Amino acid sequence: MFDILADAGKPMSAIEICSRTEAAGQPVWLSTVYRILETFVRERVAEKLTVMDSDMAFYAPAGPDSHRHYAVCIGCRKIISMENCPMDMFLPQLRDEGFRVTGHNLEVYGYCGQCNEHGGI
Ligand SMILES: [Zn+2]
Ligand SMILES: [Zn+2]
Repeated sequence: MFDILADAGKPMSAIEICSRTEAAGQPVWLSTVYRILETFVRERVAEKLTVMDSDMAFYAPAGPDSHRHYAVCIGCRKIISMENCPMDMFLPQLRDEGFRVTGHNLEVYGYCGQCNEHGGI
């Protein structure tokens, strides 16, 4: 199941992964998918991203090279991954203050190009 996540190249919801495994001829229960995904998160091979206050969680492969941030479109829920980490900008200052950063969260919300074209909301 991790292959599906890794091959996708974008964060996927459990439902998407579920239908992907089904398409591959290996149907699994959604609850099973959730359980496996939570295991991935616990073992730190995947990251869980919660989108706004929605109950929908997305999962993406984790790892030193895949540190990513995501911008979420409020209109269509599309997720755009950002290559750069803005945290790099703040780290020197925090380091000066003796703060040891062990992790951070950043979520960006807005409207994607398509939704903008349609006038947004
Ligand atoms: Zn959009
Ligand atoms: Zn970052």
